[in-house]
Parts: sequence; structure tokens; C-alpha cells
Amino acid sequence: MNEHGAAGTAGPIGILGGTFDPVHAAHLRIAQLALDVLRVTQVLWIPTGRPGYRDAPVAGAAHRVAMLRLALAGEPRYTIDERELAPGASGYTVDTLAALRAELGAQLPLVLLMGDDQFAKLDGWHRWRDLFALAHIAVFARPGEDLPPSPAVAEEGAARGDRANGAWRRHAAGAVIRVEMPPLAVSATDLRERVAQDEDLSAWLPAPVIDYIARHGLYQDS
Ligand code: ATP
Repeated sequence: MNEHGAAGTAGPIGILGGTFDPVHAAHLRIAQLALDVLRVTQVLWIPTGRPGYRDAPVAGAAHRVAMLRLALAGEPRYTIDERELAPGASGYTVDTLAALRAELGAQLPLVLLMGDDQFAKLDGWHRWRDLFALAHIAVFARPGEDLPPSPAVAEEGAARGDRANGAWRRHAAGAVIRVEMPPLAVSATDLRERVAQDEDLSAWLPAPVIDYIARHGLYQDS
């Protein structure tokens, strides 16, 4: 294995980026479905830094990574990749994917995992069309996010839709794969508010993450 744990992996690799502020049940469900349904051999969890183009996360990077470690413990197919937290990282997914592609070679299928909400506004991402040359995109339904994708994204999605049931596996990149997911009405924003109100969040957060949040007094002002 290299420092990112990916070398020597024979099958497709799933990539799940997010603020993970905190990591919650929907993130874990997406990664589990990537293993079970897409049959990726590994999921790289990539916490975002604080690039200027989006709001800064509430918890610092060290806390978010610590919570990820607690939530992912025990699943050897999960790896945390901290490259977007490095000083000077652009934070753009296209740059992260290009770096992974350079490390892992041209042939290995990479699958970028994301919720509907992110896919719908993909055309706002830096160099978004280049993403399809670097990875497949797997889209997971998110309740309450029934806004249609922008016309340009809808068009790409339709043209790249993986109708042939797994045909994407024969290619390194370029397909849009819809994955059925039982709806999970949860967001980190909502959970942060509920932490501040001292609600029981055991349905949405792993117990060690709940303990960590309490121990460090995170999200009390949310
Ligand atoms: P916030 O509320 O702080 O914006 P979030 O809950 O959306 O956070 P992120 O860490 O930003 O969490 O999300 C990482 C990825 O997980 C994104 O692709 C997002 O679409 C997806 N995701 C998060 N929650 C859900 C959900 N309930 N259902 C489906 N996908 C989700």
C-alpha cells in the first residue's frame, strides 16, 4: 500500500468527498452501498479543507478527521485521504482526481460518490466537464433534493447514464451511475443544530462520534 492505501487494489475505487462536519449515517450508507452494490474494493474518504469558495467548516480539520477515524474503524476497505487538508491544496475535486489518476494509473475505474444535491449543481464545479475524463460519478438520492439538475448536467447525465447494468466497470471513467438508496433525511447542518439542543442523535451518528462531540464540546453554538 502507498500512503493513501490504494496501491495494489485490483478493483474499482470509490471516492467520497465531504466536509464531514460531522460524518453521519447518510455518508456511511453511501460508502456501504458503494462496497455492496457497486462492488468497489475500497472507499477513499476525502475531507475538504477550507478553500475560499465555500463556507468554512464549523469543526476544525483535526476534529473532523478524528470523528471520521472513529466512524470508519473496523472496516479495512475504508481509507481517509487527507490531501485536501494540506496547506496550498486547491480543494477542487478535479485536481484531487487528477492526482489520484496519476498515482493509480489510467486503467483503474474510479467512482466519485455524491448525493443528488451535489450532482444537480455539478456545473458550478471548477472544470466540471473534465471530471468525466477522470472518474465515473455515482449519484445517490437525497430526500428533499428534488430540484432538477441544471439542463447542462441533465444532458450529460442522460448521455452518460449507465443503462447497461455495470458496463461502467469496463471503463476507467465517464459514466453516470444512479444508485438506489433508501431515503435518509439527515444533514450535518441539521445534526449540528440538534447537538446544540442536546437531542438524542444515536439514529444518525455512531456512538463514538457522539462521545467525541460531547468530550470536545463541538457544535454547542450551532
Ligand atoms: P452540510 O449540511 O454541512 O452541508 P452534508 O450533510 O451535506 O453537510 P457533506 O459532508 O457536505 O454533508 O456531504 C458529503 C456528501 O454526502 C455529498 O455528496 C452529499 O450530497 C452527500 N450526502 C450528505 N447527506 C446525504 C443524505 N442525507 N442523502 C444522500 N446524500 C447525502
